[in-house]
Amino acid sequence: MLKKTKIICSIGPASNQPDVMEKMVEAGMNIARLNFSHATDEEKMQFQNCVREVRKRTGKNISILWDTKGPELRGCVMEADSEGTEGAQLVVGNTIRLVKEAVIGNAERITFNHPSVINTLEVGDEVWLENAKMKVVVESVEEDGVTCRITQGGFLGSRKSCIIPGKPLDIPYVSEKDKEDIKYSCEHGGEYLAISFVSNKENILEIKELLKQYGREDFKIICKVESIIGVSNIREIFENSDGIMIGRGDLGSEVPPEEIPAIQKNIIRTAREMGKIVIVATEMLETMMENNRPKRAEVSDIANAVFDGTDAVMLSGETTIGKHPIETVAAMARTCATTEKYTDFSGKFELPTNDSADCVALASGAINCANIMDAKLIVVQSHTGKTAQILSNLKPNAPILAICDEEKLGRRIGLNYGVYSMVSERSSSIDKFIVEAKKCALEFSEKEGLGLKSGDKILITAGFVESDESSRKYVDSNLMKIDTI
Ligand code: PGA
Ligand code: MN
Repeated sequence: MLKKTKIICSIGPASNQPDVMEKMVEAGMNIARLNFSHATDEEKMQFQNCVREVRKRTGKNISILWDTKGPELRGCVMEADSEGTEGAQLVVGNTIRLVKEAVIGNAERITFNHPSVINTLEVGDEVWLENAKMKVVVESVEEDGVTCRITQGGFLGSRKSCIIPGKPLDIPYVSEKDKEDIKYSCEHGGEYLAISFVSNKENILEIKELLKQYGREDFKIICKVESIIGVSNIREIFENSDGIMIGRGDLGSEVPPEEIPAIQKNIIRTAREMGKIVIVATEMLETMMENNRPKRAEVSDIANAVFDGTDAVMLSGETTIGKHPIETVAAMARTCATTEKYTDFSGKFELPTNDSADCVALASGAINCANIMDAKLIVVQSHTGKTAQILSNLKPNAPILAICDEEKLGRRIGLNYGVYSMVSERSSSIDKFIVEAKKCALEFSEKEGLGLKSGDKILITAGFVESDESSRKYVDSNLMKIDTI
């Protein structure tokens, strides 16, 4: 069952063994995500080795997405109990101190990754712990910290995100940790860099400057929108990046959760309008951390993200530390594939306005043509990935197979809805390419279970200049051919 919606799996202890990841990939995982907020040095190494090994074993061109921690405010590491569980029970009515000293936290005192925020706290301020699960109110301010009353209790684990609502946090956008992690990403390959808590264009420009410094300006930048200020700047954020991840976890801590469905729809609509990538993330199959079957409401949530027109959906804890990483990916993939059967985006999304007329005309023709004749596959000759991306953004009913002259290019369009890739040496003439395209289509169908059979229509697009048949000059796509298997 070939699906068009891409699945990003966060990789951690539950999934960083080749035998497990291989099965996740076979079940429908497309992109491996490493979350720098949690990964240890050893896990980072395992992650890369595992992805490389699984690419070899499956022949699938899994992309890598590095995800920075961002200027998040997180709690400290907590003391462990006799069973090794880190955390403390915060009881309503008790007091707890927030201290500037680097301590291991317990029920009496905790600190933050940015202890300097404690300087901004005043009597009456609220501090929300672990995504607002627990709340404390500042009662008194002392030299070494503040004393708070617990107004909402619960079990506080290690390094949980915290919020000081309504206070502009005096934290630099690129932390020292992010800088190190971005450097690490730049030195270890990968295609996508997700940056957390993006508020505005300036944040992105700062990252671009770093990427330039580290020689990786080619990274595709995915901005995580997970705050009220980020939501209010989505156009400016899209304009300066390759896409947005809707970080519903952190976002839902700052805005009431009931606002999120509308925000999600709006961001996805804007992505389609602007020709950018969009990812829906967090809690998509949360209960499968424990259970081996999804809840109906979770399936509905994934389906609705697909109906909205997202490029990708993401798994977080479900695949890093969940008990059923393979079953979770399978459930997500089934939901995407099944929902896609009931979607028809023909004519729903606008053609891009920022590309050459030739390109736009070709994309428009190709999409209409493929949908009208019920093409089973669109084959695109790719050198930059541009045509594949434009077609993907318009969401044809058929999947898109990009024939790339480099494996790396295929990974750079790995997040786009419906786009899959294969490597093949660039053909020297139109005729040769048509033969090659059909060969690749059949091979792809065999590998992915597309079920192409004799008589099925496929649509082929490519870029050639007549005078240049024997050379390897690259031009924008300028031809399309309806072909029959
Ligand atoms: P995270 O980001 O998983 O890195 O926290 C996504 C979110 O906040 O939803
Ligand atoms: Mn987040």
